[in-house]
Amino acid sequence: MNNTSDVIIIGLGAMGSATSMFLSQNGIKVIGFDSYLPPHEFGSSLGHTRVIREAYHEGTSYVPIVQRAYEIWFEMNDNSKIPIIETYGGLLIGPKTGNIENAIKSAKKYDIPIKKMTTGEISQNFSVLNPPNDYIGLFESRSGAVFVENSINHMLNTALKKGSIHKYNEKVIRWSKKSNYYLVETNLGNYKAEKLVFSSGAWITKLLPTLKLPIKIERQVLFWFSPKKNPDKFKSINMPNTGWDLNNGLNFYAMPNIENRGFKVAMHHNGDFVDPDTLIRKSNDSDLKIVRDFLEQHIPDGNGDLIDSKVCMYTDTPDQDFLIDSHPDDENIIICSPCSGHGFKFTPAIGEICSSLIINNSTNFDLDEFSLQRFF
Ligand SMILES: Cc1cc2nc3c(=O)[nH]c(=O)nc-3n(C[C@H](O)[C@H](O)[C@H](O)COP(=O)(O)OP(=O)(O)OC[C@H]3O[C@@H](n4cnc5c(N)ncnc54)[C@H](O)[C@@H]3O)c2cc1C
Repeated sequence: MNNTSDVIIIGLGAMGSATSMFLSQNGIKVIGFDSYLPPHEFGSSLGHTRVIREAYHEGTSYVPIVQRAYEIWFEMNDNSKIPIIETYGGLLIGPKTGNIENAIKSAKKYDIPIKKMTTGEISQNFSVLNPPNDYIGLFESRSGAVFVENSINHMLNTALKKGSIHKYNEKVIRWSKKSNYYLVETNLGNYKAEKLVFSSGAWITKLLPTLKLPIKIERQVLFWFSPKKNPDKFKSINMPNTGWDLNNGLNFYAMPNIENRGFKVAMHHNGDFVDPDTLIRKSNDSDLKIVRDFLEQHIPDGNGDLIDSKVCMYTDTPDQDFLIDSHPDDENIIICSPCSGHGFKFTPAIGEICSSLIINNSTNFDLDEFSLQRFF
């Protein structure tokens, strides 16, 4: 009897744990599977923190979703003994066009307070930052960090308390549609449900081969450093998140030293395309060199001893926008993982959206830009 539920969720990382939380809070019977014990280091949701920001340069349609996510993150933070979100500000640094111009569009449309800064003002306020002379900065005060493992633990535990059944270390091998239910076969048993959610991250194309999703999996490396000088200036009370849109075509981001884990730096995109099952989960000298070269030029005091590094994966769509939609042939199947390396900040809002798509076949958010049809 325990093998039957209303909904089966395949993948209990960020999006799956959030979906399980919202479905269970709405009285829906859920069985969720994960191949590993989440939160774990094999997918896309690892590495202590994720940037959250609101004046979204990736598109104005993301703003209402991230604003809803902020509300839920803060509620979760109030109900949690461990930190879920911390806000201390964020600074986008780049030429006047490109990301900065697009972030200003989002800020104007949704009245998000932002402050433009010249390079002089950036160096005056944050003396460890060394932006190129012809760049500008765009500061937003609500940017900050969401704690990855803490929030996944919180969402999984909330879901369990509300009645979800989670099967960890149990891998879904295949699934099929029967007359009035779906059969999901794992390495340990067979399960039935009326609806399915695919929140399987980097493995999503393996579970939906006939859809031929145009998804690529990109290797990404996170580094934590001990600053060489001025360590106090790297704490979150003194340093914002920074996102760097450089004229050599590369993008980097850095996060202040939070909970004494070190100053976090990574390149955004430009990684190798990989298979999640054969990914090399160790950083190499060339990964480190790219980040050290960036630091030496733009945040030289941060270029100190290496504390840690982690390898992670982006699940990229061709336009780097999300894919949140029902299966084209079946509205009882929801797909919600591909977030092209910028999805974590939206997690609880995406969980709520998926839950609404399952329960009501609709959502209050405009998902047109995240549809599957745009690729076919
Ligand atoms: C290095 C890095 C930095 C990032 N930085 C940011 C940031 O600053 N801000 C931001 O907003 N976003 C960021 N992101 C993106 C964000 O982290 C991801 O969008 C998000 O974590 C993806 O969550 P997910 O649930 O789709 O995938 P995951 O959390 O990986 O979950 C997928 C789960 O499915 C399970 N699974 C897969 N196949 C099966 C199967 N057959 N059976 C059972 N279980 C299965 C996996 O084990 C996994 O647990 C970053 C990502 C990376 C990699």
